[in-house]
Amino acid sequence: MLLLVDLDNTLVDRASAFNLWAMHFVRSLGRPDSEAEWLIATDRDGYEPRESLARAIRKRFKTNKSIDALVNALLYEHVDLLTMDPLTIDALGNARESGWKIGIVTNGTTAQQTLKIETVGLGRYVDAVVISETERVKKPDPEIFRIAADRLGADLPSGWMIGDHPTADIAGGRSAGLETGWVSRGMDWPADRAVPTVTATTAAEVLDAVVHLGPRPIEERIF
Ligand SMILES: [Mg+2]
Repeated sequence: MLLLVDLDNTLVDRASAFNLWAMHFVRSLGRPDSEAEWLIATDRDGYEPRESLARAIRKRFKTNKSIDALVNALLYEHVDLLTMDPLTIDALGNARESGWKIGIVTNGTTAQQTLKIETVGLGRYVDAVVISETERVKKPDPEIFRIAADRLGADLPSGWMIGDHPTADIAGGRSAGLETGWVSRGMDWPADRAVPTVTATTAAEVLDAVVHLGPRPIEERIF
């Protein structure tokens, strides 16, 4: 039983860590706290390329920090602030005890994503970690989900992909033949998209629902 899970804003609370860092960062430049809102919006939950965000920061804050230094700060300085909901840890443990093989499938740089996993101690709760930079393919490309399934010795069509991003995680997982669980973080599903199999606000809720439904929920409902 294959369970693939996104990292940022699914297993770890990347948004809270980045928001806190953004506040420290604008203060360190002598800027008002309100400027953190611009930084958080421009970051787009980490989807804005780091170099592009670094250039925008240089322009807006007129800092003489180099692009390299800013990219480095953007990649690593919030990692120490990352947290994981204890309920997510419980849900992962429960899924594993129920016989699921769990793989993290994450877009990002190998160094940054590995550091995040080490910082929160996630390694012991999962069976494989697949990072886009390492594999040279990123979500939503179905190939990255195939790589993860291979690593776990599982067949793709009988598994799940859980994540917070409608395109990278849900459309991507769906295109690989997976059932999908959307961690909504309180947001509404985009009306023009094919709906995920399961939707809930938190990762723990989605994980618990998937474990409850099992590997082939559609067939179970039909028969
Ligand atoms: Mg995510």
